[in-house]
Amino acid sequence: MKYISTRGQTAPKSFSEVLLMGLAPDGGLMLPERYPQIDADTLQRWRSLSYSELAFEIMSLFAGDIPAEDLRRLVENTYTEAVFGTSSITPMRTLADGIKIQALSNGPTLAFKDMAMQFLGHAFEYVLSREGKRLNIIGATSGDTGSAAEYALRGKAGIHVFMLSPHGKMSAFQRAQMYSLADENIHNIAIEGMFDDCQDIVKALQNDAAFKQQYSIGTVNSINWGRILAQIVYYFAGYFRATASNSEQVSFCVPSGNFGNICAGHIARMMGLPIRRLIVATNENDVLDEFFRTGRYRPRSAAHTYVTSSPSMDISKASNFERFVFDLLRRDHFQVASLWQRVADGEGFDLSAELPRIREEFGFVSGSSHHADRLATIRAVHESDGEWLDPHTADGVKVARELREAGETIVCLETALAAKFADIIDEAAGHHVDVPRPAALAGLENLPQRVAVLPNSAQAVRELMVQTLG
Ligand SMILES: *Cc1c(COP(=O)(O)O)cnc(C)c1O
Repeated sequence: MKYISTRGQTAPKSFSEVLLMGLAPDGGLMLPERYPQIDADTLQRWRSLSYSELAFEIMSLFAGDIPAEDLRRLVENTYTEAVFGTSSITPMRTLADGIKIQALSNGPTLAFKDMAMQFLGHAFEYVLSREGKRLNIIGATSGDTGSAAEYALRGKAGIHVFMLSPHGKMSAFQRAQMYSLADENIHNIAIEGMFDDCQDIVKALQNDAAFKQQYSIGTVNSINWGRILAQIVYYFAGYFRATASNSEQVSFCVPSGNFGNICAGHIARMMGLPIRRLIVATNENDVLDEFFRTGRYRPRSAAHTYVTSSPSMDISKASNFERFVFDLLRRDHFQVASLWQRVADGEGFDLSAELPRIREEFGFVSGSSHHADRLATIRAVHESDGEWLDPHTADGVKVARELREAGETIVCLETALAAKFADIIDEAAGHHVDVPRPAALAGLENLPQRVAVLPNSAQAVRELMVQTLG
């Protein structure tokens, strides 16, 4: 299995090569040259597998250059009860109104990003040691992604992580989660500035080709193919859990931002998993909802990107969306490149002529929610089911309830736990709530913290890295 770029100007690459890549050199995103097709017998056989056995079967179709026994060991070391809290890894429950919730947030940072990042941590270490390479990850975070990356890469041989965060701008919980890590290969850097300043520093260091080369600088962003691949697995696991036989269909509702999560659902469906509809749920940052309703894609300006109470979905453009459009346009890379040239020019594009195919052939529909909807959904689910939903998951449940058709089974993906967003739960409840927290995180805020505070300067960060790496 080789990988190609959505822009068509990158030589085909192997799985191991793609694993360590971000954007393709031509600016596109990497995808397998074709999607493996799962026949009825295989699907039947997979129904009874454990999560890690299923992950092995699916990933081995895509990771041809990793020997089977090594891949098996990688997934067995990744998807354990010790890391994800239950032996089923992504347990499912049903709300009083019949909507099913698939729990993807029982990993170390209480958000679904652990599902893929934990695999990536093991896979990076494996590929680097096999090739005698080292990797120094730099990243900027306002919370979620950075902590998922640190928890995935802590203690991994051959890897250092330098994670920039805005000094004094994260919640006490988020700070404690990242800064309490004592592993020698994890380096937290608090920048005296905003999140955008952190991102600019990362870009500046990435664009310094000599530095990048000398220090093997890499990133772990949401366009990494390994993350998408790991996410395909839980769509299969969720389908099996929600159905009694493979003649049934299931729809998935996915709280979405960068389109990474639901892109994996799209690929599972292309592989032949009986998914009826893929429901995109956005918050006030509704660039995707607009596309799936009208066929027009209009990335937002900074002034029209809102800070919301489901902050991990606050995006102006959806980086993984290009993968879907590539498939929609029958993999015509010339057309994809020309559409994204228009995006770069600040114009966006119009594919409204394709709306019937988007709905019928690809099963996509969408909806969005606002702050008041989110609070109302959190309150309503607490009343009917006695549990607190995280605000992102609440966006999903709101849209699922709105779009559900008679007889349709909808699985809503739980992308974080409420414990991570205690202030929003308090606001929804109208009083302080002690949201239950996994036992492992009791007293997290009292642990000693380790962070270097630096001025808003790429040079200062570079010096610290050079000093650390020797
Ligand atoms: C990252 C994230 C999302 C959005 O996922 P995408 O893959 O970017 O669409 C939704 N909810 C939570 C809690 C997240 O951390």
